[in-house]
Amino acid sequence: MTRVGVLALQGDVREHVAALTVAGAVPVEVRRPTDLEGLDGIVLPGGESTTMGKLLRIFELLGPLRSLLAGGLPAYGTCAGMILLASEIVDGRRDQELLGGLDITVRRNAFGSQVHSFEADLDVAGVGTVHGVFIRAPWVERAGPEVEVLASVGEHPVAVRQGHLLATSFHPELTGDERMHAFFVRRLVAQAEGGAS
Ligand code: GLN
Repeated sequence: MTRVGVLALQGDVREHVAALTVAGAVPVEVRRPTDLEGLDGIVLPGGESTTMGKLLRIFELLGPLRSLLAGGLPAYGTCAGMILLASEIVDGRRDQELLGGLDITVRRNAFGSQVHSFEADLDVAGVGTVHGVFIRAPWVERAGPEVEVLASVGEHPVAVRQGHLLATSFHPELTGDERMHAFFVRRLVAQAEGGAS
């Protein structure tokens, strides 16, 4: 039984729970530190990264989650979740809390000045064509040498992987397509458990 947490402080938790269930994992909503016990992976949903950072601190999840991620807990961040996993932000708030781990610089609300929200079909390496929903989405401005770019919009990466960490600027959970979650569960979570990919 693969238990995958969904950070449930804010954002579209229900849709991730549904996608993980279809992907064959047992979803666990995470609101307090004890909810982190025994997880094989965690999903960080979209929402508002500055608010999520504050809530992570208030609910005393920031420290425990940072240690778990640094210790190799597989994580998948969508949109605001991608921002939380980034090592650096452009256009963030000065006091914005991050979990870090992914060697990327993200630009918050990157598509914002051109298009607020949009949808696009993306060719995601290892997954196939995915219909991406972008809502005030970030893009990856810099990716470190260990980071694998799985999909881009123009020259900007919007899906990246670095070892046990996966992040997308878009929201696959909003289209009823569980393939990104299945990729996470089978390729990142199962590998961390020592299982076959
Ligand atoms: N713009 C939001 C932020 O900076 C992210 C939006 C989203 O998660 N859909 O946190």
